[in-house]
Amino acid sequence: MSMPDDVNVLVVGAGPTGLLAACELRRRGVPVRLIDRAAAPSPRSRALLLWPRSLDLLADLGARADAEAAGLPITAFSYFSDRRPLATVRFTPELMPLCLPQSGTEQVLTAALHRLGGRVERGVRLLALDGLDYSGRIAAGDRVTAILEHADGTVERCRVEYVVGADGAGSAVRGQIGTGFLGSTYGLAFALVDAPADGPLPADRALYHQSPAGALVIVPLPGGRYRFFASLPPGEQLSVELMQRILDHRGPGGVRIGPADWQSVFRVHRRHAPRFQLGRVFLAGDAAHVHSPAGGQGLNTGLQDAHNLAWKLAAVLHGEAPVDLLASYGPERQAVAHRVVRDTDLQTRAWLLGNPAAVALRDTAFRTLGRSGVLARLYAPVMAGRRLVYPPVRPTQLPSGAATCTLRARMPGGIRVGGVAPVGIGHPAGGPRTWTLALVDPDRVLAGVAAGWPQVAEVDVAAVAGCERPGYHLIRPDGHIQAHGHAGDRDRLLAELTTVLGAPDPAERPSAASLLPLPG
Ligand SMILES: Cc1cc2nc3c(=O)[nH]c(=O)nc-3n(C[C@H](O)[C@H](O)[C@H](O)COP(=O)(O)OP(=O)(O)OC[C@H]3O[C@@H](n4cnc5c(N)ncnc54)[C@H](O)[C@@H]3O)c2cc1C
Repeated sequence: MSMPDDVNVLVVGAGPTGLLAACELRRRGVPVRLIDRAAAPSPRSRALLLWPRSLDLLADLGARADAEAAGLPITAFSYFSDRRPLATVRFTPELMPLCLPQSGTEQVLTAALHRLGGRVERGVRLLALDGLDYSGRIAAGDRVTAILEHADGTVERCRVEYVVGADGAGSAVRGQIGTGFLGSTYGLAFALVDAPADGPLPADRALYHQSPAGALVIVPLPGGRYRFFASLPPGEQLSVELMQRILDHRGPGGVRIGPADWQSVFRVHRRHAPRFQLGRVFLAGDAAHVHSPAGGQGLNTGLQDAHNLAWKLAAVLHGEAPVDLLASYGPERQAVAHRVVRDTDLQTRAWLLGNPAAVALRDTAFRTLGRSGVLARLYAPVMAGRRLVYPPVRPTQLPSGAATCTLRARMPGGIRVGGVAPVGIGHPAGGPRTWTLALVDPDRVLAGVAAGWPQVAEVDVAAVAGCERPGYHLIRPDGHIQAHGHAGDRDRLLAELTTVLGAPDPAERPSAASLLPLPG
C-alpha cells in the first residue's frame, strides 16, 4: 500500500511533543501526518507541570484558556529536610506553573489540532525509514520513505520531505538514524501514587521532602487529588500501604492516602542523543533526551523542541528560508537539553543524599538561597522557561563595536539576543510565519531595510528597555530575538537577513513546495 506524495512532514508519535509539532506545522500551512502506534491516547498522567513558557505556546494556539480551565495553579514549592522546613519558593503570577496532568495537556493539544483541520492517525506504527542519507546533509536526497504498519497488518510506504521523531524514550526513529542515547540510569527505582488524601496538605503548593531514607514529592492535582512520588526503598513492592509508610516516615504527619487512581514504579534516566538530526530526520522530546522529573521539565522541554523545529520546517518548505536554517535546530535544542539533564541530575542527587555532612551542606545552601530570595529570583525564572536563550553564533547577530546594551542584556531579565522578545518590542507583528523587525528609528535610517523579504514585518517602536540608542531587534516567528544592532549596523542587519532568509531577490530563493492554504 502506498500514499500519494501530498504530505510534507511525517510526525511519529502523538505525545505532547508530536501533537505540538503537528499543530505548529498546520497553523503555518504545512500538510502533516501525525501517527501513533497506540490505539487510543493514554489516560495515564506522567508529567504534571506546564511552565509559563509552555503556556505561551498554548496561548499562540488559542489553547491556553482550555488548559487553565482544566488545570490548577501551583503557587509555591516548599522544601524540607527530615520534615524540617528549609525554604519556600513563591511564584509570582508570571512565573507560576499550572498543574495539568499529561493526559489533559494531550487533550488540549488534540482539540487545537482538530481546530486546525488535523488529526491523529492511531494504530499506525513506524517500522523503518528508507532512503536515509547518512552523510547527514539536510538537502541530500529529496525525500525519505517511512515504512508504516497499520493495526490491520497492512504495511504502507509513505514518502515525505521531513520526518519528526517524537516517539518517546524508546524512539524507533532514533534507532533508524543510528545515533546513540548516551547517559545512565539512576540506581534507585521511583514510585508514584495518584490518590485522594485526608489531612493537612496544601491545595496549591508542591512539597519536596528530602531525608536520608529518600525523597518524597507531593503535588496537588486538579479535582482534589494528590500525586505522591518517592524513591522506592530497595527490595520493596509498591502499594498504597507502602506509600503511606513512606509518607508517615518522610513527609508531613497526619495525612491518610485514599484508594489509588493510578500507581506505577519506574526507573529514571539521564540520557540524550548525541545528535538531534540526520539529513531530513529530526528527533524531538523524549526521543532526544530524558531526565529526572525533578522540577517538572520533561514535557516542557519537548514542547520547546517542537516549537523550535516546526517554524523552521515551515519556513524552508514555503521557500522563505534556505534549508541551512534547519541545521540550527540540533545545536540550539541540544544545548538546552544538556542543561536540563545536568540541572535535574543535580537536583535528584541532592534529594537522595544520605551522608550527614553532605546533607548539612545541602540544607545550609537551601536555607541561605531561600532566605536571600535567590531561589525565587534566579531559579524560578529558569524553571518557568523565562531564561531560555539560543546564544548568537555569528557576529552579525550582535551590535558592532562596544555597546553597553550587550552588557546590560547579560543581567537577569535583560533583553538578550537569543532570548524571547517581550511583547512590548513589537512582536508578534503578523501571522505565525512572520518575522518582526522592531525599529527604534527616529531618523528613518533603517526604514525599508527588509523590503526584499516579504516575510519580515517592520514595526516602529518608541524605545526598548536596556538600549537607549536607535536601532533594531530582529525577531523570529517563534518569538526569539535573532539579532540586535544600532542605526549604523544596517549592513550587519542585511548580512544577517541574507544568511537566515536567503538573498532578497525572490528569484534567487528556493521554490515553495505545494502547501496548504493557511487556516483562517
Ligand atoms: C512516571 C513518569 C513521570 C513523569 N513525570 C514528569 C513530570 O512530572 N514532569 C515532566 O515534565 N515530565 C515528566 N515525565 C516525563 C514526561 O512524561 C515526558 O517528558 C513526556 O511524555 C515526553 O513527551 P513526548 O511527546 O516527547 O513523548 P511521549 O509522551 O513518550 O510520546 C511518544 C508517543 O510516541 C508513540 N510511539 C512510540 N513509538 C512509536 C512508533 N514506532 N510509531 C508510532 N508511534 C510511536 C507512543 O505511543 C507515544 O504516544 C515523567 C515520565 C514518567 C515515565
